[in-house]
Amino acid sequence: MSASDPKREFAIDVVRRLKDAGFQALWAGGCVRDYLLGREPEDYDVASDARPDDVRKLFGQRRTLAVGASFGVIIVRGPRSQARAGERADVEVATFRTEGPYLDGRRPESVAFSSPEEDARRRDFTINGMFYDPLEHRVLDFVGGERDLGAGVVRAIGDPRARMSEDKLRMLRAVRFAATLAFELDAATAEAVRDMAPEILVVSAERIAQELKRMLVHANRRRAVELARGAGLLAIILPELQPLLETAGDGTAPRMLRASGAPGGHGHPPDSPWQRTLRMLELLEQPGFALAAATLFHDLPPETARAICRRLRLANDETEHVVWLLDQQRNLDDARRATPAKLKRLLAHAWSRDLVSLVRVETLAAGRDLSAVSFVEDFLRDTPPEALNPPPLVTGNDLIAAGLQPGSRFKTLLEAVRDAQLNGEIHTRDEALRVLEGLLRGA
Ligand code: ATP
Ligand code: MG
Repeated sequence: MSASDPKREFAIDVVRRLKDAGFQALWAGGCVRDYLLGREPEDYDVASDARPDDVRKLFGQRRTLAVGASFGVIIVRGPRSQARAGERADVEVATFRTEGPYLDGRRPESVAFSSPEEDARRRDFTINGMFYDPLEHRVLDFVGGERDLGAGVVRAIGDPRARMSEDKLRMLRAVRFAATLAFELDAATAEAVRDMAPEILVVSAERIAQELKRMLVHANRRRAVELARGAGLLAIILPELQPLLETAGDGTAPRMLRASGAPGGHGHPPDSPWQRTLRMLELLEQPGFALAAATLFHDLPPETARAICRRLRLANDETEHVVWLLDQQRNLDDARRATPAKLKRLLAHAWSRDLVSLVRVETLAAGRDLSAVSFVEDFLRDTPPEALNPPPLVTGNDLIAAGLQPGSRFKTLLEAVRDAQLNGEIHTRDEALRVLEGLLRGA
């Protein structure tokens, strides 16, 4: 977080302009938490007593977007100079509000504009309930957020059970914040989550998936998954993992044996499948969501993983990515015995790097020999893209020129020529045409 962070500068600027116009204005929520932790906030939210109309008038209709005007939320567009790569420093300005009763376990029936203190109390966790004045460098804390931030505790604001029943997604958010910030869950908050975990299913699949994604791509994904299991959320969201979760035991026995140097073997009992899965998750290096999900699902049949992805309403491309990784994970094991053509076809695939990563962490977690993975990694490193996936030497047009009718034989013939090319048996179009003639004559 540099002093001249343009996103932050703009978020300060928005506060200054609101205050200059006579309104109260404060940074609010997650950005205060991250700022106080010395981390760069993903985005800045401003809370104010300015009403949506005031905000639009002050910043101009064209520089603002009324995304949630009924909730009092207006987006103020960042300077265009930062529009590169979608990294525009938009700031959300929300009117201080309090929320009416929650009727469906997801959202409030109504909202009403109110005071900063009431706005703090409607928020989910104390660490997310603070305000900060970036001009006067002052924290406004009605909920004990600073103390919990210092102690590293995720604690619901008010009665945890009541807050979790208002919006059941907060259960998953509690786990995500505890994991990603490397905090502990406050005991009463954790107990409320454990008791109410089955109710997470009233939340839409999209919102659940979004939380899962954020947990799985984060460096602390292992802890996130462990906490979600401990809270009873994982078995509800992903019941297909139940058999795997049952291998977890209480997690203490293996460690005790290891410490005392159990007799025989290499001194410790084999890890449970669940322990191995956790280890795999931990070993991943900056995975995308599909790779992390495939790692969590690596023991499931690909079709079961597909059903999970569908239920979570993932994008088709993401679903196919996860399923492809699971489908292919065995194919790397005998890479050294595969023909160059077979290996090149596999490795030319857009998702092959993820496949190598998946098999690498699985091999490491199982304590198996890495040589098959290293072979593939070396092959990838030593094979330039144009050798991995060279332009074809012949096409369907050549088959038509040879007098063939388009049909199912086309594919077989072209693939045979392609194999010869990838295996390095032929290098020119003439050679390819000769192979084709041979194949046609032989048929
Ligand atoms: P991050 O953006 O890193 O997920 P965040 O705290 O900014 O963390 P947002 O979802 O962006 O989370 O929400 C901004 C703020 O709005 C939160 O800090 C919290 O104060 C409040 N908030 C968000 N979701 C909820 C919720 N489900 N219940 C209560 N308050 C919420
Ligand atoms: Mg946020």
